[in-house]
Amino acid sequence: MKIDEALDLIAEIPDFPEPGVLFRDLTPVFGDAAAFAAVVDALAEAVGDVDQLAAVEARGFVLAAAVGYAKGLGVALVRKPGKLPAVAGRVDYTLEYGTATLELPVGAVRPGQRVTIVDDVLATGGTVAAATSLLADAGADVRGVAVVLELAALEGRAQVPGVPVHALRTL
Ligand code: IMP
Repeated sequence: MKIDEALDLIAEIPDFPEPGVLFRDLTPVFGDAAAFAAVVDALAEAVGDVDQLAAVEARGFVLAAAVGYAKGLGVALVRKPGKLPAVAGRVDYTLEYGTATLELPVGAVRPGQRVTIVDDVLATGGTVAAATSLLADAGADVRGVAVVLELAALEGRAQVPGVPVHALRTL
């Protein structure tokens, strides 16, 4: 399947999770073998020459696991709070509505490793900015962000200055 055909499967859900928000739902892409393969192949090209991937749970894990397998790379699993037995770093960040916390497991990255963050959607950029600071604090060299969809009006890439953002589709 061509990548544009795969991305055309992304659904638009009005008023989720808050009134006035248009949620982009990748469920049909994850659920279609050919579309999923096309997206994973395109992300695998977008991540560039790095030593490790990183992803934020939960949809980021699915994408990064497949891309990591395709590229022969491991994945640093950035978690929501309270799940890890050994926490290397924790960051609180602001969401469009409220706040959130992310944690990096001990041993997820080695100092000097070149890392690309993989996720489904780049919206305000708070999530990738938080993940970038966690990875940088652990000594990793964050070289890029690869996402399926970038919502350009929210200017998320401005939250990670100096880090190239590769989006399969920008809206
Ligand atoms: P940000 O922190 O505002 O950039 O939001 C990005 C995070 O929220 C990503 O991990 C996405 O999974 C999720 N997200 C934000 N907006 C959407 C959307 O419209 N569809 C699916 N996920 C979204």
